[in-house]
Amino acid sequence: MSKKHLDKVISLCKRKGFVFPNSEIYGGLKASYDYGPLGVDLKKSISEKWWEEMTRHSNIVGLDSSIMVHPDVWEASGHVANFNDPMTDNKDNKKRYRVDDLLSQQKTKVIDDLCRQMSIQNNNDSDTLDRISTILLTQSDKFSNALESAGVIDPFSGNIGKWTAATQFNLMFKTNAGPSEKTGKSIYLRPETAQGIYINYLLVQNSMRLKVPFGIAQIGKAFRNEIVARNFIFRTREFEQMEMQYFVHPSEDEQSMSFWKEKRIDFYTSELGISQDNLKFHQHSEDALAHYAKDAFDIEYNFPFGWGEVEGIHNRTDFDLKEHEKLSGKNMMYFDQVKNEKYHPFIIETSTGLNRLFLMVLCEAYFEDEVNKRTVLKLPFDLAPNKAVICPLLKKDGLPEKAQNIFGMVNSEHKCLYDEQGSIGKRYYRQDEAGTAFGITIDHETLENDTVTIRERDSMKQQRVSCDKILQFISDNKI
Ligand code: ATP
Repeated sequence: MSKKHLDKVISLCKRKGFVFPNSEIYGGLKASYDYGPLGVDLKKSISEKWWEEMTRHSNIVGLDSSIMVHPDVWEASGHVANFNDPMTDNKDNKKRYRVDDLLSQQKTKVIDDLCRQMSIQNNNDSDTLDRISTILLTQSDKFSNALESAGVIDPFSGNIGKWTAATQFNLMFKTNAGPSEKTGKSIYLRPETAQGIYINYLLVQNSMRLKVPFGIAQIGKAFRNEIVARNFIFRTREFEQMEMQYFVHPSEDEQSMSFWKEKRIDFYTSELGISQDNLKFHQHSEDALAHYAKDAFDIEYNFPFGWGEVEGIHNRTDFDLKEHEKLSGKNMMYFDQVKNEKYHPFIIETSTGLNRLFLMVLCEAYFEDEVNKRTVLKLPFDLAPNKAVICPLLKKDGLPEKAQNIFGMVNSEHKCLYDEQGSIGKRYYRQDEAGTAFGITIDHETLENDTVTIRERDSMKQQRVSCDKILQFISDNKI
């Protein structure tokens, strides 16, 4: 996939009503997007797939916790102290960058130079960039000139920047609860949905009489004040997470991690139609692990702009539960009545972003059919916003009435569209771009023998099918 592929996907998203730039009439708000009619349906189908996949396990239950929680939650979780990205400013033009992002846009010789200055090895990977960022931050006095002396280019100006020493930038959005800024308490918009699960886990466990191992699944908005928000909806400041936190006995953490790694990658190929070749695992090296993690894998997708994380699978140990216990003074231990054992369960987290999955699905499905000069969204049937378009060949001779009857019948099972505008070829092509799986045409023969033409989106194959067999045909031929 080339970078152009992304531009084409973005343009299709606007044209067909999947995603619109936010506040466009006011010049737009950077990294904010609105989901249009087809986008809402696609997003909903992806999240429903995820929800079904998780809650079909009888020991996984749902939760919908608040976006705003007690501020101590973020003290305990370490987000106030640690949820930071190192950043640097170019003193010349005041442009601000996330250090690892800036480094990812530099030539190898620049990174080699920084590694030499810091006496670390350049493994040519993102972990090396993370390591450099951390050193720039933690030893900012010693390395205050390192970026400039290594010749780090400002991507905006194309010149070597005059870089400030790296400083921390907390990614949480802070706001005020209550009528007065002075008396109200500062609160944060949640940067992850996970903490809402941890602080409720004993209430969930008790109310549902769950036994370890069990999981709690949640879908909801999260907010991060990203320094660099780009690549369309890949990285935005407001996004939706789908997280499942799995509570296990501490002795079973590694086994559970392997289980979920396998399950999650299967989900992408079998439920979202992603080819195995476009997916890979990336294990975090020990020094690049988050403060709470013992082991961490990302699932990465081969986006048009390179490999990018779509999901994190983390062994968060008992870190969060113990920290909440310390700060709240409340017991966060699970009691196993059968074994008469009390312990803090380990947590295996699977955390994905709905918007990133949405972008991944579109990048995978977008196809330019050179032979037939058309653009096709080869979406899996279950994800297609509309499953069929119903078209009377002409707007007369009783064809629209018959087509409306068929629309009613098919639409009662599968979401469909009715379209009588333009030539039949144009109508099909319009829907190919929107991912609609089948085109059903009603013509004069329909009135004679009660059959219709059904056209498949990907193969463009057309078949004559009896009206009473349309639903059967769809269920036999859906991809
Ligand atoms: P990244 O390294 O890309 O910033 P992360 O490691 O901080 O991601 P996690 O904290 O593990 O991400 O969050 C889990 C998932 O949430 C990610 O895999 C991604 O799908 C999604 N996600 C995180 N940040 C964003 C964002 N700013 N915009 C959209 N989705 C996001």
